[in-house]
Amino acid sequence: MSSLLDDLRAVVGHERVLDGSLDRHLYATDGGALRGDTSMVVMPTSTAEVAAIVRLAGHHGVALVARGAGTGLAGGAIPHDGAVVVSMALMDSIAEVDLDNRTAWVGPGVINLDLSRHTTPHGFHFAPDPSSQQACTVGGNVANNSGGPHCLAEGSTVNHVLGLEVVLAGGDVLVVGGTAPDPVGLDLRGILVGSEGTLGIVTRILVKLTPNPPAVRTILAAFDTVDDAAATVSAVIGAGIVPAALEMMDRLMTEAVENWLHAGLPVDAAAILLAEVTGDPAAVDAEARLIQQFAGANHAKSVRLAADEAERAVLWRARKSAFGAVAQAAPDYYLHDTVVPRTKLVETMQEVYRIAEKHGITMLNVFHAGDGNLHPIMAFDRAQPGMLETVQAAAEELVEVCVRNGGALSGEHGIGQEKRDLMPLMFSAEDLDAQARIKEVFDPAGTFNPGKVLPHGSRCFDFGRPIPDGTWV
Ligand SMILES: Cc1cc2nc3c(=O)[nH]c(=O)nc-3n(C[C@H](O)[C@H](O)[C@H](O)COP(=O)(O)OP(=O)(O)OC[C@H]3O[C@@H](n4cnc5c(N)ncnc54)[C@H](O)[C@@H]3O)c2cc1C
Repeated sequence: MSSLLDDLRAVVGHERVLDGSLDRHLYATDGGALRGDTSMVVMPTSTAEVAAIVRLAGHHGVALVARGAGTGLAGGAIPHDGAVVVSMALMDSIAEVDLDNRTAWVGPGVINLDLSRHTTPHGFHFAPDPSSQQACTVGGNVANNSGGPHCLAEGSTVNHVLGLEVVLAGGDVLVVGGTAPDPVGLDLRGILVGSEGTLGIVTRILVKLTPNPPAVRTILAAFDTVDDAAATVSAVIGAGIVPAALEMMDRLMTEAVENWLHAGLPVDAAAILLAEVTGDPAAVDAEARLIQQFAGANHAKSVRLAADEAERAVLWRARKSAFGAVAQAAPDYYLHDTVVPRTKLVETMQEVYRIAEKHGITMLNVFHAGDGNLHPIMAFDRAQPGMLETVQAAAEELVEVCVRNGGALSGEHGIGQEKRDLMPLMFSAEDLDAQARIKEVFDPAGTFNPGKVLPHGSRCFDFGRPIPDGTWV
């Protein structure tokens, strides 16, 4: 029998199957803290090639892990036990842009920001804007149902995906959804978006394009306490204003960003809020005034309106560069992405700081405050004996606090491998069994991304492959 390597090379060509040790090392991890192992990486350029790869995987009995840009933070794209990584990066066409219907069919490998750059001259953009948007792919956004600062008003990726083309087990190609306002039949699009590559490989995406807003106002407010900043968030939303974005950074995070980018952020504040309103000029002026008033009523020490587009761009660059700025604090970082009801922000943040102090960890916070999506970032040095274990213990406590406060395991980064074993904190045996049965229907042999999302024992009998634990990078 021919080897899998030879068979894959026959499908995509010699140069698009990578099996060198450096390539295998690079593709064995993502943007998070875990590492696995892969036997090879294959880079298809068409749906037909993906279908052939899936058929070969079935024939040789190997698992496949679809990969976009590898910026995921939950270990979703990590291969195990030699699974083949299917890099979708070369499937990056932006086709069939239909401005009248405000849609486009795009390849999963299209970089998120490139899609908006492509359509902005025509007055449109792709609304989901993860802070990683300069690197992450639309396919990864779909698989993780990703969010971003501007998803507060616009909703996460699922609200901007109208249809999908997916290669299923056995190599069948399925197209789900479409432009009809209420597609008939079972909502398979809804099941596939956010399924983290566990049900099939997405090969084309019908995205909704959002008109660029006629007017934008961006407000920066600084507070002496995190509580006051959080109270402002509740006041704004409670008043019925849903800003396009409402982001918070605490002092440690602000200092790290300012030290790096010199964006003019107030480093003497315990917390800063970055709020943005978009829409009709008269309406945004009125909303911006109200937000400034709410900040003042909650003891803001300074409030300023970005004077022009250049100042706005600087502020957003500062916000979206926050994770990178953490490198100044320590060589390693680990972050959890959890979500709590907005009304629980104040007490949850108090718990976050308590956990940091208890474990003696430097914790920096930057998050989508408007929808209660927290990102406590632990900066640490893994070379320090016992530090990794301390960080892991603190991370689990953080998740437990958020779930106890009525929140969820993940606000936007997905479950992947990192939070797989925490799923029972949120889901009953019946819930997990229902999800596992869906996995079983789509992927009876457990070919697609095994060991992710669903913990061992989700089904009364276990299907597919043994589930690996993964090691920290
Ligand atoms: C600095 C930084 C900032 C970030 N900010 C945000 C943020 O604001 N909001 C947010 O939500 N996330 C954020 N993230 C997390 C990450 O960028 C997103 O989850 C992103 O959508 C992942 O895209 P990717 O192309 O890198 O996917 P990958 O990491 O390559 O893969 C992610 C998952 O998608 C699956 N997948 C990828 N492509 C396909 C496909 N074609 N078919 C089926 N499955 C597929 C993979 O198997 C994996 O499970 C951030 C990450 C970093 C490093």
